[in-house]
Amino acid sequence: MKFNLNISAKIKQYSLCVLTALVFSGGSFAQLSKKQSQSRPNIIVFMVDDMGWMDTSLPFGESVMPLNKRYHTPNMERLAREGMKFTNAYAQPVCTPTRVSMLTGMNSAHARITNWTSPAKNSPTDAGDNQFSSSEWNYNGLSPVAGIPHTIHATAFPQLLKDAGYFTVHIGKAHWGSSGTPGANPMNLGFIVNIAGHSAGHPQSYLSEDFYGNKPGKGSWQSVPDLQEYYGTGTFLTDALTKEAIKTIEKPINDKQPFYLNMAHYAIHDPIMADPRYHQKYVDAGLDPIEAKYASLIEGMDTSLGDIMDYLRSKKADKNTIVIFMSDNGGLSTVPPRGGPEHTQNLPLKAGKGSVNEGGIRVPMIVKWPSVTKPATIASQYVIIEDFFPTLLEMAKVIKYKTIQTIDGKSFMPILKNANFKDDSRSIIFHIPNKWTAVDGPGINYQSAIRKGDWKMVYDMRDRSKQLYNLKTDKGESNDVAAKNPEVVQSLSAALGKQLRQWKATMPLDKRTNITAPMPDEN
Ligand code: CA
Repeated sequence: MKFNLNISAKIKQYSLCVLTALVFSGGSFAQLSKKQSQSRPNIIVFMVDDMGWMDTSLPFGESVMPLNKRYHTPNMERLAREGMKFTNAYAQPVCTPTRVSMLTGMNSAHARITNWTSPAKNSPTDAGDNQFSSSEWNYNGLSPVAGIPHTIHATAFPQLLKDAGYFTVHIGKAHWGSSGTPGANPMNLGFIVNIAGHSAGHPQSYLSEDFYGNKPGKGSWQSVPDLQEYYGTGTFLTDALTKEAIKTIEKPINDKQPFYLNMAHYAIHDPIMADPRYHQKYVDAGLDPIEAKYASLIEGMDTSLGDIMDYLRSKKADKNTIVIFMSDNGGLSTVPPRGGPEHTQNLPLKAGKGSVNEGGIRVPMIVKWPSVTKPATIASQYVIIEDFFPTLLEMAKVIKYKTIQTIDGKSFMPILKNANFKDDSRSIIFHIPNKWTAVDGPGINYQSAIRKGDWKMVYDMRDRSKQLYNLKTDKGESNDVAAKNPEVVQSLSAALGKQLRQWKATMPLDKRTNITAPMPDEN
């Protein structure tokens, strides 16, 4: 603390000297003001893979709960102290649907990307099923070029930022399109720099000793590209990506060119490997062996956030940089690869990754925008991943733009300006007409859900059953009140069905009848 104060005092002293020198040298002051007034903010989206709402020491619920005590994320706590915490932020239940939704502003049902995309082209990833076959979804992902089969042709916002003069950087996991399609390469989606992003959804290895999966003769789709200089140096993947990010944003900061950094960690997706910097403390704390590794992946990710925040401050770029923390789906709760009892890893939320229950879709989100968000504020208005598209463009003052697609997202700028902003009339939708994993679980496989106000309805396509929850009193979705509120079920079914039809959302095909599963409002 004393050290920090000294530094800050020195910076103030230094600034005063520069100012005095410039005033006396005449003329140069105008130049300084112009340089200092880079009017458009830098924007960083710090995207963590598969991070659950409870995978942090920062409580997103009303109180500190047992899982908050398990993990250590001091830099998330710091970001929340300096910015706004969103307690009702949503992503889709799995990777590619969320990532494409963010880049295009489309709901994943509208983009028809409702399951993760394989790195191999033309390879639907649905598990086999006795009842359903999955219908024709866009299993090759996002494409900036028309005419590529099984892709959504859309304009990605990094392209619009780049066109508006932003220096656009992607670091880490991409997973927007399959190999052999243009969307596999982030540079085709508007990024000027791409480091380590390609078609794969997870790393083969986090370890430099394994060359991150590039050992001769041992390569796979999941071998992480571009990090040769770290091979054998003992640098954990999370740290290597952080170092690359910091190196890359130095130039736009020095040039006073606004930048967008898509800091997309491979952490904390499986393979669940120990981050050696933090592993032992969780072993000593008595955690299950897999969960000790998992906790170390989380703390390594949190250190990356802190390193980037420290760097911004050291370059005096922190006041003009927006930092948005986000995850692409809820925490994995299937065992294996997780340890402990199945579907308990996000408690009090129900289930986890792959599920339309809260454990699969409610994620940690924090936004720090100096001079706009008030420090240590909490927003409870729900937001969803497609909202990033219009919000980020508005932050960058890119107001007039053309897109191939129709945007579904809504800017959350009003919330950033007023944490108490409330809109209960909005509906947000989650749609997985796919078989994500071989075994069904709570809200997992062939499910849709809609949230409006405090109401949440889940529609199970297998037996056409509906559950209704009041999230205000029951965010754990343990008390199904559908039978007591038939009019709410009917109204949410109608809203969900109407929107899915408007988006031409896919539904699975019943193998016995060769008819698609009915929409939630069909008899
Ligand atoms: Ca993910």
